[in-house]
Amino acid sequence: MNDAGQATTALSVEVSREGGITVIALSGFIDAGAPLTALAEATGSPLVLDLAGVRRISSFGVSAFMDALRDVPTETSIVWRRVSVPLMLQVSMIENFNGRASIESFHAPYYCATCGHEQHCLLEVEAVKAAPAPYRAPAVACAQCGRPATFDELEADYFAFL
Ligand SMILES: [Zn+2]
Repeated sequence: MNDAGQATTALSVEVSREGGITVIALSGFIDAGAPLTALAEATGSPLVLDLAGVRRISSFGVSAFMDALRDVPTETSIVWRRVSVPLMLQVSMIENFNGRASIESFHAPYYCATCGHEQHCLLEVEAVKAAPAPYRAPAVACAQCGRPATFDELEADYFAFL
């Protein structure tokens, strides 16, 4: 997938309807010129963005994405669902990266010291916030060997958006 550059540079945008609301699934690489106009054209509220498939975002992509979010009509609330790890790292580094979007669920990177397996676990914001603050990575078992896996980023930064 890396040789031609096509598969890694393209962003795929899939628009679907779920009841009265629009769900837009983004997957691939967000760069300058990413086709994000569908966000402003969505009807109904909230607008749900399924971000599980976003593998990479460049610094130009960050600007393009933040602009596209700002172009969503203000009466439309925005929900981010299943946010990928590359995007969560931007959330933790860039102030106001998610703008007025609220994050419903997100992926967190874990590493297993026993067998070396790396996994991205889907966490629900409500479940993480059910524990007392400061919010921390929940205990997760390695999907490969079942031993406890370790959260693989700076916890204080990664969970600071909560
Ligand atoms: Zn393991």
